[in-house]
Amino acid sequence: MNPAPASVPPAVDHRDLGRDMGVFATSPLVGPGLPLWLPAGAAVRRELERLAEDVALADGCEPVYSPVLGKRSLFERSGHWAKFADDMFPPLDDGSGDPLVLRPANCPHHAQVYAAEPRSHRDLPLRYHELGAMFRSERSGVLSGLSRVRQINLDDTHVFCRPDQVAVEVRRALDAVLGVLRLLGLEIDHVRLSGRDGSGRWLGDPGRWADAEERLRRVVAGSGLPWAEGPGEAAFYGPKLDVQVHDARGQEETLATVQLDFNQPERFGLEYVADDGSRARPVMIHRGTVGSMERMVAFLLEQHAGRLPFWLAPVQVCVLPVEGADGRPVADALRARGLRVRLEAEGSLGNRVRLARGRRDALLAVVGPREAAAGQVAVQDPATGARSSLAVEDLVERAGLAARERRPRVSL
Ligand SMILES: [Zn+2]
Repeated sequence: MNPAPASVPPAVDHRDLGRDMGVFATSPLVGPGLPLWLPAGAAVRRELERLAEDVALADGCEPVYSPVLGKRSLFERSGHWAKFADDMFPPLDDGSGDPLVLRPANCPHHAQVYAAEPRSHRDLPLRYHELGAMFRSERSGVLSGLSRVRQINLDDTHVFCRPDQVAVEVRRALDAVLGVLRLLGLEIDHVRLSGRDGSGRWLGDPGRWADAEERLRRVVAGSGLPWAEGPGEAAFYGPKLDVQVHDARGQEETLATVQLDFNQPERFGLEYVADDGSRARPVMIHRGTVGSMERMVAFLLEQHAGRLPFWLAPVQVCVLPVEGADGRPVADALRARGLRVRLEAEGSLGNRVRLARGRRDALLAVVGPREAAAGQVAVQDPATGARSSLAVEDLVERAGLAARERRPRVSL
């Protein structure tokens, strides 16, 4: 475990960055804790959603969709109602005697996806992936920017597997998280094995818990990563591995988790036919990579002080024509490669550069009459100070490659 960096850079609040960059807004008419994603924020979120989906598909997950509403009895059965009712919005009475509630988690729906068909040991593991919305009735006083919200959009996967498949699946989930953090330019501090403490708030059989904790311990100990025990940090239904990082203020934070769950399969009576023909219980593993879109964007903005990796930047190239030159051909060529481009033609160059820096545009491309005639652009990366005069096709090539390969920056 590394101590917090000795010289912590001055904290940059994601709410200020969000305003400068046009990431999100709130409206008193929509309500607190319900941010609106503006185009720049939506660009970042879409990239994160694509990444989450790419990683899930590469790991053999199958996309599913499920509704944000469910009967209260669904969450009574899962155990959420007993633990989280205070954090849930009031039930919507539909006259059935079993009102609808906005879900506090996606797991019970995915358990019902599993239960929709009979399963054999040969079918497992089954991995269901969804970018699903879930809801928290947080008091308005604690709501803040993107970090404390009432609707959480979560990159969420539930794996249903046999007990003998747990170690491989946990390892697969952990590797997926590490790969994603690398692409996001985030450094892991350590993995926390979050188990029970002496309190009685844990759901299910203590022997099962001890067994599940031991399985996770073996995976994390064999991973070569720094790790630590976290007694009392488990989810109420099972132990988990938490991937810990330091935020921009030097505070330890959990950015992703892999959770083992023996309880929901039990409570929902989930089964598969074992190879000897008997009925057996699958294990449920809750995993995510990018996790909550809101929290991840808030975290990334603060961690990178708004200078996101190139592939995530809301504006990847800001084209600045000067002295009557036409910036459109350059902007069009970049857009045709799928890059996010802003053509900033009005006002003094100094002012336009200031605006572009304030928005944290990744690259600035100045086009004057001489450059335009020669098919060239003068490119600079404000984050590194690197400058280069490039042929337009060369810039398109380099920037296109950096975006496609999810690189932190374009080599100039
Ligand atoms: Zn879950």
